[in-house]
Amino acid sequence: MKHANISLFVPHMGCPHQCSFCNQKTISGSVKSLTPDCVTETLRNAVKDKNEPLDTEVAFFGGSFTAIPRVYMISLLEASKPFIDAGYFNGVRISTRPDAIDEEVLGILKKYGVKSIELGAQSTDDEVLKFNKRGHTRQDIINASKLIKEKGFSLGLQMMTGLLGDTDEKTLKTSDDIISLKPDTVRIYPTVVLEGTELGELYKKGKYAPQTLENAVHICAVLLKKFHDNNIKVIRLGLHSGGNVEEGFIAGAYHPAFGELCESAIYLDILKNELKNSRNENEFTVFVNPSEISKMTGHKGCNKSELLKEGYIITVKGDESLSKYELKLKGRK
Ligand code: SF4
Repeated sequence: MKHANISLFVPHMGCPHQCSFCNQKTISGSVKSLTPDCVTETLRNAVKDKNEPLDTEVAFFGGSFTAIPRVYMISLLEASKPFIDAGYFNGVRISTRPDAIDEEVLGILKKYGVKSIELGAQSTDDEVLKFNKRGHTRQDIINASKLIKEKGFSLGLQMMTGLLGDTDEKTLKTSDDIISLKPDTVRIYPTVVLEGTELGELYKKGKYAPQTLENAVHICAVLLKKFHDNNIKVIRLGLHSGGNVEEGFIAGAYHPAFGELCESAIYLDILKNELKNSRNENEFTVFVNPSEISKMTGHKGCNKSELLKEGYIITVKGDESLSKYELKLKGRK
């Protein structure tokens, strides 16, 4: 069974604030309002193209779904409901703001087959939230997360790194808080400075320094490993390429293979630690799970080159018995 979402973008509607980093038009690559007819047409086409069973959800992403006018929100859900009821899709997934969740709206979502709710938490540091004009607090994140879980939805939390006023320490605290809220999934986005945003203006005036790609990879690799060790699935790391992000890009930690860079950094770190105990040898075969070979080797072989600079020659091979982030070393000299 393949997993894929049918993504429907609700661009920049329902946002009572304008967050410092957000130019929703740029992120979603779409400026047209989503209509119930668009929903029906998209889902009808998806069903028509379906020639194998797909483990698929209908995903309303982009804006703050539960903050859009209620009548409009329900009209979109009404358009997707017949497809959910007919069993074509597993359910509906939405993304929204932590301060746009209460018992009443959760009741409506449940009625229309919503199964997963993702909250844009971004940080649990109140100062960072304020500097970046999020318009909600750390407590809103906690309250909404608890309520979502209590009502039986799958909870997703999104966090960012490198926001205005953010530090690695605050980022790590955010990840601790997220772990304690026990979400089912997490998305991690290093801040990308886009044209038409407040951060863009501050950056141009020299009042905001975005994270370098190197710093972002370093901290996001730590986060990724931490969530993995706590059995929390990271379903996205870094903004998707396309969707006009490249055109709106001014500065910040954007790389089309950002997730792979972080995975490679984790493997390099683990391997370096192992190598500390093997001082007398310099040529090794490193075994990892076959699906992880490219991550161990590194993006464009960067881990191999990095180790070569330190005097190590490695060959990477697969071993089915090893799980993710587990490795075995065999000296060759
Ligand atoms: S709440 Fe979300 S969609 Fe709205 S401005 Fe902020 S980041 Fe953008």
